[in-house]
Amino acid sequence: MIKNMVGIIGWPISHSLSPIMHNHAFLKLSLDSWTYVPLPVATSPETRLKEAVFGLRALGFKGANVTVPYKESVIPYLDSLTKEAKNIGAVNTIAVTDEGKLVGHNTDGDGFINDLSEHQITVADKSALILGAGGASRAIAYALLSHGCRHLTILNRTKTKADDVVLKLQENFNKVMIESGQLHKESLVNADLVINTTSIGLNENAPDMPWDEGVAFSKNQVVYDVIYNPKLTRFLQHAQKYKAKAINGLGMLVHQGALSFEIWTGHKAPIESMKQILRTRF
Ligand code: NDP
Repeated sequence: MIKNMVGIIGWPISHSLSPIMHNHAFLKLSLDSWTYVPLPVATSPETRLKEAVFGLRALGFKGANVTVPYKESVIPYLDSLTKEAKNIGAVNTIAVTDEGKLVGHNTDGDGFINDLSEHQITVADKSALILGAGGASRAIAYALLSHGCRHLTILNRTKTKADDVVLKLQENFNKVMIESGQLHKESLVNADLVINTTSIGLNENAPDMPWDEGVAFSKNQVVYDVIYNPKLTRFLQHAQKYKAKAINGLGMLVHQGALSFEIWTGHKAPIESMKQILRTRF
């Protein structure tokens, strides 16, 4: 009998791989009373986000993931936030406590760090360049700085947004060099880690990249793209051309999901199985 429900709130949600990934993990660990369902919450004619979030508690859900476009707008409906979620300003995981309290977490940043660790990459004392200043950027920036990154630059098409992200980060990390700039115009091109968090590259039919064609990478650099479909964006192809280590966002997807899974169930997530089931989808 299904007793433990979790799901994913977002719009649109039909493309989400999270239900497949989590249900496979439940199966793998014989957690037969658990199930993960899509929870589409339309954005128009008016969003019923508040009702959907309160519905988790009313319907006895154990929690939910939150995705585009609600990672920030969900916050006012929650009872409390973890330190990470508060500082990042976005929630990707809700846990419903036994007392019915809704707690907002953000596992995106730690999911990213755990994926780097799996590739034997550490961030302490490294320099990093993040392209983009949206939700994924904020989570990754916070995680990099929490793990000892010594120099961080954030570049964005809308520079004022990068400025705002940097200002907020400086409140928590006032001894580290953190800078902002305009995408394409300024860059710390020789940073140890270069991370694309923009959505440029998502469209396979019109490939583009958030990086100038004429700017080379070196073989010592790690180039990460949070996009995982297509598997190899033009940005990652460019990195491979220069023998930089190129990593896509599939591992981050799995690791952020694994952390959510552990928050809800208290069980260690079967990461390899989760990764395998996703690979069959591409
Ligand atoms: P947001 O909407 O919060 O941010 C989007 C970012 O992309 C902004 O910096 C925006 O710049 C930039 N951008 C979008 N289009 C363009 C363009 N044409 N030219 C230049 N910049 C552009 O999205 P998220 O941060 O939530 O998500 C970003 C990406 O990360 C998505 O592809 C998402 O699927 C992926 N993601 C992957 C995860 C994983 O686990 N692998 C987890 C979370 C996200 P501007 O501010 O100027 O609009």
